[in-house]
Amino acid sequence: DRAQIGVTGLAVMGRNLARNLARHGHTVAVHNRSYERTKALIEEFGHEGTFLPAETPEQFVASLERPRRVVIMVKAGAPTDAVIEEFAPLLEPGDMIIDAGNAHFADTRRREAALRERGLHFVGTGVSGGEEGALNGPSIMPGGSPESYEALGPLLEDISAKVDGTPCCTYVGPDGAGHFVKMVHNGIEYSDMQLIAEAYDLLRHAGGMEPAQIAEVFRRWNTGRLESYLIEITSEVLAHTDAATGQPFVDMVVDQAEQKGTGRWTVQIALDLGVPVTGIAEATFARSLSGSPDLRAAARNLPGPRASKVGDVDTLVADVEQALYASKIVAYAQGFNQIQAGSAEYGWNINPGAMATIWRGGCIIRAKFLDRIRAAYDADPNLPTLLVDDYFQQAVAGAQDSWRRVVTTAAQLGIPAPGFSTALAYYDGLRAQRLPAALVQGQRDFFGAHTYRRVDRDGSFHTLWAGDRREVAG
Ligand code: NDP
Repeated sequence: DRAQIGVTGLAVMGRNLARNLARHGHTVAVHNRSYERTKALIEEFGHEGTFLPAETPEQFVASLERPRRVVIMVKAGAPTDAVIEEFAPLLEPGDMIIDAGNAHFADTRRREAALRERGLHFVGTGVSGGEEGALNGPSIMPGGSPESYEALGPLLEDISAKVDGTPCCTYVGPDGAGHFVKMVHNGIEYSDMQLIAEAYDLLRHAGGMEPAQIAEVFRRWNTGRLESYLIEITSEVLAHTDAATGQPFVDMVVDQAEQKGTGRWTVQIALDLGVPVTGIAEATFARSLSGSPDLRAAARNLPGPRASKVGDVDTLVADVEQALYASKIVAYAQGFNQIQAGSAEYGWNINPGAMATIWRGGCIIRAKFLDRIRAAYDADPNLPTLLVDDYFQQAVAGAQDSWRRVVTTAAQLGIPAPGFSTALAYYDGLRAQRLPAALVQGQRDFFGAHTYRRVDRDGSFHTLWAGDRREVAG
């Protein structure tokens, strides 16, 4: 018997994806550059389903039914290109190579175009949920040709997470669309994590609460509108006691956040597209700031404000919940705008509501809240921003007094809250009837004769700043 699908690259993600497929009754060919990983998989988990282990790429390809479905789950970058080059010559027109690693969408576009020329389908697929998700049901974001999705979609939907019976997997769009959406997912994840971290920091330092008490607050929030995987694990991490010292675990961890690069990619691409994803940018820069120990040591004794605590802790807790919810709405609104901008730029025709749907389960940002986003885009697929959807508009309107108090409190007490602050500034920037951008245009025209448009007449204009300050056509 031949295998319906094969997985090459059997480190933690590939192994768990292969097990997930086998546990769902599919026959899975498995291969890894070094055979030990393949052997280990069969020894430890062979009983979970039907695996066809292969020592060589040739054996692996020969064990697959047609059209062949080859999932590559190796290190992103050059290793992915090397593995594609190893397998592509062994495949035939109509076969599919599925890159389920964390590729940059521009690489996916390049690889898809090259393999299409050779008659092969290349499916760049975002997979979220970490190793646990890969095993028990991830959120899957496949790009590529619609034909490839017909042949592959049912298998992927089968092993994806389900919410209310709906799979957390759907066709995203051509070439790099799947990896683009996965990238923005990770950017939103950065933003969400930063906002939660700021909420904790304010309760800890402005409220004077202990980690265990804050864990309780998060546990309570997780029963309401903030219910999400990230809030849930936050409460677990805060409740955890370090075994060696008996101290709160969070106090024993070096306060320098690391990053593997997807947040940075999201911001880089957002800059190119001209989409203000300020929440993701601040979250990424906050990690950079935390990870600059020399800079921080040099600045440690800079003066701060005198006050250090709020008087009314209960109000602070309620306010921070509101600020967190409002800021989170802004973060997601920005991320979805980036998806829409990418979709327009590359002609992907991505359905934003469908993305909210497949993020409801399996992935790191899974949350109850995503149902609201889906509903918003169902009601109006061309929504310019989630902030103008009725539900979100009302939620933010109800939260904004608290939100403003939290940002004010943070500033007055000298507690950094870049995520909360930038979200509020974005909200107010969007709302503004007039922005000081008019002055910026005046400055640009003054020093560079860059011209400006007028509110009362069409055309572009320039003022002769160095001369008699007459206005001329630009
Ligand atoms: P790693 O990223 O650590 O990659 C290790 C695997 O890549 C091994 O199977 C290794 O083979 C193989 N490999 C590396 N270089 C080559 C090469 N030149 N030729 C052939 N094979 C090579 O594995 P993970 O399982 O952590 O991740 C796999 C992919 O999934 C990555 O792209 C990652 O970004 C992505 N991902 C990871 C998540 C996670 O939570 N870890 C979540 C979502 C996506 P060998 O055993 O022979 O060394």
